[in-house]
Amino acid sequence: MFRTFLFCIALSGIFSSPSPVCSQEKLKALIIDGQNNHSMWPKTTAMMKHYLEESGRFTVDVARTRFTWQGGELLKQYPAGDKIPRKDLPESRPDPDFKPNFSAYDVVINNFGWKAAAWPEETQQAFEDYVSNGGGLAIIHAADNSFPEWQAYNLMIGLGGWGGRNEASGPYVYFDQQGKEVRDESPGSGGSHGPKHEFQIVVRDQDHPITKGLPTSWMHTSDELYQQLRGPGMNMRILATAYSAPDFRGTDRHEPMIMTISFGEGRVFHTPMGHDDVSFECVGFITTFLRGVEWAATGEVTLTEIPDDFPKADSASRRAFEDR
Ligand code: ZN
Repeated sequence: MFRTFLFCIALSGIFSSPSPVCSQEKLKALIIDGQNNHSMWPKTTAMMKHYLEESGRFTVDVARTRFTWQGGELLKQYPAGDKIPRKDLPESRPDPDFKPNFSAYDVVINNFGWKAAAWPEETQQAFEDYVSNGGGLAIIHAADNSFPEWQAYNLMIGLGGWGGRNEASGPYVYFDQQGKEVRDESPGSGGSHGPKHEFQIVVRDQDHPITKGLPTSWMHTSDELYQQLRGPGMNMRILATAYSAPDFRGTDRHEPMIMTISFGEGRVFHTPMGHDDVSFECVGFITTFLRGVEWAATGEVTLTEIPDDFPKADSASRRAFEDR
């Protein structure tokens, strides 16, 4: 695909070899955003951009809708990270000029959210073509709330929530207490969560490049535990789950937390984690996000190093992010 070859100079001396990362082609990533009910979306986009660039594996561009929810003047009034009162939130409006050149990228990271306005038809078609022709896609948290009416989008995300999703969208998919994947056709709305809390992520499939070699469980920083997601769930592989405890208004089920989906020739990495900056600061989130985005771009993972500050089974680990 479209990769920029990076010519590296070994800074440590003319006789030393370039590091493995330096000798690789950088992958081209595009973060798309602009309409998200999560008030800190500009900050979480900045965080993802930073993580991707810091890995040495990606160059990153951002494409943003012109009519942003919580954008423009509001961003001056409420600096990134501030919670904008619901009363001050303008509704999303369609942006007829939102036409990113998806096919110029190896991977697109979707940071849209609930109530995002439908994209222009031409943009939807370009996006479908991009993914089905082998493009990579990453779906983060509320991006699985977006575009409930868009059939191809629902196939790409596998499972979604809110926006009127119900039994017509597809089954609830979760793991039962015996560790068996369940596809539950019972009627009901898709998507809910209890209060934010720390919860444990459990790897269910270690044979995938995204999870290979990772600890089998780790504690995630405080986040919304998305539950009762439902959708077509076709060509979907659930790599990790989290137990949704009744103490936190949970389902008593093990809910999907890391999924991969194939759509045509395209690869999709989907995580419902990532409600706010605290969730994004989790070292487990950062590690699996980078692996997931790289896998979506190439089908392989070279970012296999497990950081020293990776969380333990019973204790979370955060890297404080300062706005840059
Ligand atoms: Zn959220």
